[in-house]
Amino acid sequence: MSLTDHSDGTAAQTDRDRDDPMVRVEGLKKHFPIYEGILQQRAGEVRAVDGVSFDIAEGETLGLVGESGSGKTTTGRSMLRLTEPTAGTVEIDGQDVVDLSDDELKKFRRNMQIVHQDPTSSLNPRHRVKSIIEAPLKIHDYGDADERLERIEELLEMVDLPREFLYRHPGQLSGGQKQRVGIARAVALNPKFVVLDEPTSALDVSVQARIVDILENIQDEYGITYLFITHDLSLLRNVADRIGVMYLGRLVEVGDVDSVFETPEHPYSRALLSAISTVSQADERAKPDRQNVEGEIPDPREKPSGCAFRSRCPYAFDACSGDEPGMYEMGEDQVARCYLHDDEYEEGPDW
Ligand code: SF4
Repeated sequence: MSLTDHSDGTAAQTDRDRDDPMVRVEGLKKHFPIYEGILQQRAGEVRAVDGVSFDIAEGETLGLVGESGSGKTTTGRSMLRLTEPTAGTVEIDGQDVVDLSDDELKKFRRNMQIVHQDPTSSLNPRHRVKSIIEAPLKIHDYGDADERLERIEELLEMVDLPREFLYRHPGQLSGGQKQRVGIARAVALNPKFVVLDEPTSALDVSVQARIVDILENIQDEYGITYLFITHDLSLLRNVADRIGVMYLGRLVEVGDVDSVFETPEHPYSRALLSAISTVSQADERAKPDRQNVEGEIPDPREKPSGCAFRSRCPYAFDACSGDEPGMYEMGEDQVARCYLHDDEYEEGPDW
């Protein structure tokens, strides 16, 4: 296989329009300084996100998957500048978000929103549903009181909540109902891009599917572009158009959803897939053989040299401790960061 020039992890291309993506991320980094001692001197840094690049076409969903500590949530938060990126560019609808002043950023926020993982902590318990959803409308000078109320009612209908919920407090709602309020607030201003940060993982399995349905219906109607962050790869099968797999702050595989599920080309993706539960026997047969990945994801401060996955990879061989592998093109819509796909190492382990 040939090495692509996407050594920083640029996503593979799909049949969607990639010439003018809604979201373009280039070399995004977020490093957190570590301070130690009585004088709190800087002793190093945690490279939570370490050079991530990808595009998302308009109306597309990119699923970002990885274990806790892989950097996926920090990637989403850095893109929205909820945490300031250390380096890189993030273009949303042609606007470099990283370059915006505080005032410009405040105005631009109407175009980029987030749905948080925990709906309980993301809603102010003292406010009623009406004022929670109204807050972004007021900040961005949306109409008068009557027009805002009309919009809030429309949003409640969109997330399948009855009008009488307008005057309830979050404490009177179930987890799924709270998350619907969070979604209504996030899409109130019809944003172009929404980060969905594990939007169903704090909810009962019985309500997860309904939340996903609501998100998909909203996307179909308004063409919103999603970054869907999750640790649960199985969830992305029916939700994502493309998938990015993250490990220790780097993308290790990117591809269209069918390619990643049917022919995962990175040992880490294969391990994640082999561990998911399936419902049907056909899906079970299609799963890769169980891959035993040793141990936990390493502390990002002790990232292995060479390929960061080598301390857990069942296929690791000599080359893996040298330079970090680049991204190898595995087909039209798939790239993977692994030396097993380098013709130079065809004597390496069987894949
Ligand atoms: Fe495993 Fe080596 Fe591939 Fe890394 S480069 S995933 S250690 S085989």
